[in-house]
Amino acid sequence: MKLLRHGPKGQEKPGMLDAGGRIRDLSAVAHDFAGDSVSLAALDKLRGLDPTSLPEVPGDTRIGACLASVPNFWCIGLNYAQHAAETGATPPKEPILFSKATSALAGPDDPVVIPKGSVKSDWEVELGVVIGARVDHVSEADALSVVAGYCTINDLSEREWQTERGGTWTKGKSAPGFGPCGPWLVTADEVPDPQKLGLWLSLNGEKVQDSDTSDMIFGVAEIVSYVSRFLTLLPGDVIATGTPQGVGMGMKPQRFLRPGDEIELEVQGLGRQHQKVVAYPG
Ligand code: ZN
Repeated sequence: MKLLRHGPKGQEKPGMLDAGGRIRDLSAVAHDFAGDSVSLAALDKLRGLDPTSLPEVPGDTRIGACLASVPNFWCIGLNYAQHAAETGATPPKEPILFSKATSALAGPDDPVVIPKGSVKSDWEVELGVVIGARVDHVSEADALSVVAGYCTINDLSEREWQTERGGTWTKGKSAPGFGPCGPWLVTADEVPDPQKLGLWLSLNGEKVQDSDTSDMIFGVAEIVSYVSRFLTLLPGDVIATGTPQGVGMGMKPQRFLRPGDEIELEVQGLGRQHQKVVAYPG
Protein backbone atom coordinates (compact mmCIF):
# COMPACT_ATOMS: atom_id res chain seq x y z
CA MET A 1 0.00 0.00 0.00
CA LYS A 2 1.04 3.56 -0.65
CA LEU A 3 -0.48 5.60 2.17
CA LEU A 4 -0.51 9.37 2.24
CA ARG A 5 -2.11 12.42 3.80
CA HIS A 6 -3.94 14.94 1.63
CA GLY A 7 -5.33 18.42 2.17
CA PRO A 8 -4.30 21.85 3.44
CA LYS A 9 -1.55 22.11 6.07
CA GLY A 10 -2.91 21.15 9.47
CA GLN A 11 -6.13 19.72 8.01
CA GLU A 12 -4.77 16.68 6.21
CA LYS A 13 -6.81 13.50 5.94
CA PRO A 14 -5.55 9.95 5.47
CA GLY A 15 -5.57 8.51 1.98
CA MET A 16 -4.06 5.87 -0.23
CA LEU A 17 -3.08 5.49 -3.85
CA ASP A 18 -5.19 3.11 -5.93
CA ALA A 19 -3.72 0.86 -8.63
CA GLY A 20 -4.18 3.65 -11.17
CA GLY A 21 -2.22 6.16 -9.06
CA ARG A 22 -5.32 8.12 -8.03
CA ILE A 23 -5.67 9.34 -4.44
CA ARG A 24 -8.50 7.76 -2.46
CA ASP A 25 -9.75 9.27 0.79
CA LEU A 26 -9.53 6.99 3.83
CA SER A 27 -10.92 9.37 6.43
CA ALA A 28 -14.17 7.43 6.80
CA VAL A 29 -12.35 4.17 7.52
CA ALA A 30 -8.98 5.01 9.09
CA HIS A 31 -7.48 7.25 11.74
CA ASP A 32 -4.95 9.83 10.63
CA PHE A 33 -1.54 8.18 10.22
CA ALA A 34 0.55 8.53 13.37
CA GLY A 35 1.63 6.32 16.25
CA ASP A 36 -0.57 3.26 16.72
CA SER A 37 -2.51 3.91 13.51
CA VAL A 38 0.58 2.83 11.57
CA SER A 39 1.21 -0.23 13.75
CA LEU A 40 1.56 -3.50 11.88
CA ALA A 41 -1.89 -4.53 13.17
CA ALA A 42 -3.55 -1.27 12.06
CA LEU A 43 -1.99 -1.55 8.60
CA ASP A 44 -3.19 -5.15 8.28
CA LYS A 45 -6.75 -3.91 8.74
CA LEU A 46 -6.36 -1.54 5.79
CA ARG A 47 -5.13 -4.27 3.46
CA GLY A 48 -8.60 -5.69 2.95
CA LEU A 49 -9.96 -2.42 1.59
CA ASP A 50 -10.94 -2.04 -2.03
CA PRO A 51 -9.51 1.40 -2.88
CA THR A 52 -11.94 1.87 -5.75
CA SER A 53 -14.80 1.81 -3.22
CA LEU A 54 -13.40 4.97 -1.58
CA PRO A 55 -13.96 8.59 -2.63
CA GLU A 56 -11.46 9.93 -5.17
CA VAL A 57 -9.48 13.05 -4.24
CA PRO A 58 -8.61 15.64 -6.94
CA GLY A 59 -5.10 15.03 -8.31
CA ASP A 60 -3.92 18.58 -7.61
CA THR A 61 -4.61 18.31 -3.87
CA ARG A 62 -1.67 19.13 -1.59
CA ILE A 63 0.12 16.13 -0.11
CA GLY A 64 1.18 16.48 3.53
CA ALA A 65 3.86 14.64 5.48
CA CYS A 66 3.00 10.94 5.27
CA LEU A 67 2.71 10.91 9.08
CA ALA A 68 0.64 13.42 11.07
CA SER A 69 3.15 13.34 13.91
CA VAL A 70 5.93 11.07 15.01
CA PRO A 71 6.66 9.95 18.59
CA ASN A 72 10.38 10.17 17.79
CA PHE A 73 12.29 11.36 14.74
CA TRP A 74 15.59 9.48 14.88
CA CYS A 75 18.48 9.95 12.48
CA ILE A 76 21.63 8.04 11.69
CA GLY A 77 24.71 10.13 10.82
CA LEU A 78 27.58 9.44 8.42
CA ASN A 79 26.10 6.12 7.25
CA TYR A 80 27.49 6.12 3.70
CA ALA A 81 31.25 5.68 3.39
CA GLN A 82 31.74 8.30 0.68
CA HIS A 83 29.61 10.83 2.58
CA ALA A 84 31.72 10.29 5.71
CA ALA A 85 34.79 10.90 3.56
CA GLU A 86 33.44 14.14 2.04
CA THR A 87 32.80 15.57 5.50
CA GLY A 88 36.35 14.68 6.57
CA ALA A 89 35.09 12.25 9.24
CA THR A 90 36.36 8.73 9.86
CA PRO A 91 33.65 6.14 9.13
CA PRO A 92 31.89 5.34 12.42
CA LYS A 93 32.46 2.01 14.18
CA GLU A 94 28.88 1.99 15.46
CA PRO A 95 25.82 3.82 14.08
CA ILE A 96 25.75 7.51 15.06
CA LEU A 97 22.30 8.15 16.54
CA PHE A 98 20.83 11.61 16.98
CA SER A 99 17.36 13.09 16.96
CA LYS A 100 15.52 15.70 14.96
CA ALA A 101 12.66 17.72 16.47
CA THR A 102 9.32 16.11 15.65
CA SER A 103 8.03 19.61 14.81
CA ALA A 104 10.33 19.63 11.75
CA LEU A 105 7.93 17.31 9.85
CA ALA A 106 6.74 18.78 6.54
CA GLY A 107 4.98 17.81 3.36
CA PRO A 108 7.11 16.56 0.45
CA ASP A 109 6.45 19.61 -1.73
CA ASP A 110 6.11 22.32 0.91
CA PRO A 111 8.47 25.28 0.43
CA VAL A 112 11.68 25.04 2.47
CA VAL A 113 12.08 28.19 4.56
CA ILE A 114 15.71 29.14 5.28
CA PRO A 115 15.72 29.48 9.08
CA LYS A 116 16.21 32.93 10.57
CA GLY A 117 19.94 33.68 10.71
CA SER A 118 20.98 30.60 8.72
CA VAL A 119 23.86 30.84 6.24
CA LYS A 120 24.62 27.12 5.84
CA SER A 121 21.36 25.29 5.11
CA ASP A 122 22.02 22.03 3.29
CA TRP A 123 20.19 19.03 1.80
CA GLU A 124 20.27 15.25 2.51
CA VAL A 125 18.20 12.67 0.62
CA GLU A 126 17.52 9.65 2.86
CA LEU A 127 15.64 6.42 3.15
CA GLY A 128 13.14 6.80 6.01
CA VAL A 129 12.11 3.74 8.04
CA VAL A 130 8.77 3.81 9.87
CA ILE A 131 8.51 1.49 12.88
CA GLY A 132 5.36 -0.63 13.24
CA ALA A 133 5.61 -2.08 16.74
CA ARG A 134 6.72 -1.31 20.28
CA VAL A 135 10.03 -3.08 20.45
CA ASP A 136 13.33 -3.30 22.21
CA HIS A 137 16.28 -5.67 21.87
CA VAL A 138 15.04 -6.93 18.53
CA SER A 139 17.58 -9.16 16.78
CA GLU A 140 18.99 -8.18 13.41
CA ALA A 141 17.28 -11.26 11.94
CA ASP A 142 13.86 -10.08 13.17
CA ALA A 143 14.36 -6.34 12.74
CA LEU A 144 12.75 -5.92 9.32
CA SER A 145 9.61 -7.66 10.59
CA VAL A 146 8.88 -4.68 12.88
CA VAL A 147 9.14 -2.14 10.05
CA ALA A 148 5.76 -0.74 8.98
CA GLY A 149 7.08 0.91 5.86
CA TYR A 150 9.44 3.31 4.18
CA CYS A 151 9.39 6.89 2.92
CA THR A 152 11.55 9.47 1.19
CA ILE A 153 13.05 12.04 3.59
CA ASN A 154 15.01 15.24 3.06
CA ASP A 155 17.05 15.56 6.27
CA LEU A 156 17.62 19.30 5.85
CA SER A 157 20.51 20.50 7.98
CA GLU A 158 21.98 23.82 9.12
CA ARG A 159 25.71 23.06 9.14
CA GLU A 160 26.88 25.99 11.27
CA TRP A 161 24.35 25.12 13.95
CA GLN A 162 25.11 21.40 13.58
CA THR A 163 28.89 21.53 13.73
CA GLU A 164 30.15 24.93 14.93
CA ARG A 165 27.89 25.76 17.85
CA GLY A 166 28.70 22.97 20.30
CA GLY A 167 26.56 20.22 21.73
CA THR A 168 24.89 17.52 19.66
CA TRP A 169 23.67 17.77 16.06
CA THR A 170 20.02 18.31 17.03
CA LYS A 171 20.16 22.14 16.78
CA GLY A 172 21.21 21.94 13.14
CA LYS A 173 18.59 19.38 12.15
CA SER A 174 15.38 20.64 13.65
CA ALA A 175 14.27 23.95 12.13
CA PRO A 176 10.59 24.20 11.15
CA GLY A 177 10.07 22.34 7.87
CA PHE A 178 13.49 20.64 7.96
CA GLY A 179 11.92 17.16 7.81
CA PRO A 180 9.89 16.64 4.62
CA CYS A 181 8.54 13.04 4.69
CA GLY A 182 6.70 11.37 1.86
CA PRO A 183 4.83 11.67 -0.44
CA TRP A 184 3.93 8.14 0.55
CA LEU A 185 4.39 5.74 3.40
CA VAL A 186 5.06 2.62 1.34
CA THR A 187 4.29 -0.47 3.38
CA ALA A 188 7.17 -2.87 3.93
CA ASP A 189 5.62 -5.66 1.83
CA GLU A 190 6.26 -3.48 -1.25
CA VAL A 191 9.95 -3.05 -0.38
CA PRO A 192 11.39 -6.58 -0.35
CA ASP A 193 15.00 -5.39 0.05
CA PRO A 194 15.63 -1.92 1.53
CA GLN A 195 19.33 -2.24 0.63
CA LYS A 196 18.61 -2.21 -3.10
CA LEU A 197 17.08 1.23 -3.57
CA GLY A 198 18.52 4.00 -5.69
CA LEU A 199 18.32 7.49 -4.20
CA TRP A 200 19.16 10.88 -5.68
CA LEU A 201 18.76 14.60 -5.16
CA SER A 202 19.02 17.42 -7.66
CA LEU A 203 19.58 21.11 -7.01
CA ASN A 204 18.25 23.43 -9.73
CA GLY A 205 18.21 20.47 -12.12
CA GLU A 206 21.77 19.33 -11.41
CA LYS A 207 22.00 15.88 -9.83
CA VAL A 208 24.23 16.37 -6.78
CA GLN A 209 23.46 13.14 -4.91
CA ASP A 210 23.10 9.85 -6.79
CA SER A 211 23.67 6.63 -4.91
CA ASP A 212 22.18 3.37 -3.73
CA THR A 213 21.21 2.06 -0.29
CA SER A 214 23.61 -0.86 -0.84
CA ASP A 215 26.35 1.68 0.03
CA MET A 216 25.13 2.07 3.60
CA ILE A 217 27.72 1.25 6.24
CA PHE A 218 24.98 -0.06 8.56
CA GLY A 219 21.92 -1.52 6.83
CA VAL A 220 18.32 -1.02 7.92
CA ALA A 221 18.09 -4.28 9.90
CA GLU A 222 21.33 -3.51 11.70
CA ILE A 223 20.19 0.04 12.50
CA VAL A 224 16.79 -1.01 13.87
CA SER A 225 18.35 -3.76 15.98
CA TYR A 226 21.14 -1.46 17.20
CA VAL A 227 18.86 1.43 18.21
CA SER A 228 16.48 -0.95 20.01
CA ARG A 229 19.29 -1.94 22.39
CA PHE A 230 19.36 1.59 23.82
CA LEU A 231 15.70 2.65 23.77
CA THR A 232 12.20 1.37 23.08
CA LEU A 233 11.12 2.00 19.52
CA LEU A 234 7.45 2.93 19.15
CA PRO A 235 4.87 2.50 16.39
CA GLY A 236 5.13 5.54 14.16
CA ASP A 237 8.75 6.34 15.06
CA VAL A 238 10.79 7.37 12.03
CA ILE A 239 14.46 6.64 11.49
CA ALA A 240 16.24 8.59 8.75
CA THR A 241 19.05 6.24 7.77
CA GLY A 242 21.74 8.63 6.60
CA THR A 243 22.61 10.38 3.36
CA PRO A 244 25.03 9.51 0.55
CA GLN A 245 27.78 11.79 -0.73
CA GLY A 246 26.94 15.02 -2.54
CA VAL A 247 25.79 17.39 0.20
CA GLY A 248 26.68 21.10 -0.04
CA MET A 249 29.01 20.93 2.96
CA GLY A 250 31.18 18.43 1.09
CA MET A 251 31.55 20.49 -2.09
CA LYS A 252 34.64 22.51 -2.95
CA PRO A 253 33.81 25.32 -2.61
CA GLN A 254 30.97 24.57 -0.22
CA ARG A 255 27.50 25.40 -1.47
CA PHE A 256 24.42 26.08 0.61
CA LEU A 257 20.75 26.69 -0.10
CA ARG A 258 19.63 30.12 -1.23
CA PRO A 259 16.13 31.54 -1.79
CA GLY A 260 14.98 30.59 -5.28
CA ASP A 261 16.76 27.22 -5.30
CA GLU A 262 14.73 24.18 -6.28
CA ILE A 263 15.33 20.75 -4.81
CA GLU A 264 14.06 17.45 -6.19
CA LEU A 265 14.74 14.12 -4.51
CA GLU A 266 13.57 10.56 -4.65
CA VAL A 267 14.15 7.16 -3.14
CA GLN A 268 13.35 4.46 -5.67
CA GLY A 269 9.75 3.30 -5.35
CA LEU A 270 8.94 5.68 -2.49
CA GLY A 271 7.99 8.79 -4.44
CA ARG A 272 9.55 12.11 -5.32
CA GLN A 273 9.72 15.40 -3.39
CA HIS A 274 9.99 18.86 -4.94
CA GLN A 275 10.79 21.89 -2.78
CA LYS A 276 11.26 25.56 -3.55
CA VAL A 277 13.60 27.34 -1.15
CA VAL A 278 12.32 30.61 0.25
CA ALA A 279 13.75 33.28 2.56
CA TYR A 280 12.68 33.61 6.18
CA PRO A 281 9.73 36.02 6.14
CA GLY A 282 10.32 39.61 7.17
ZN1 ZN B 1 20.92 12.88 7.66
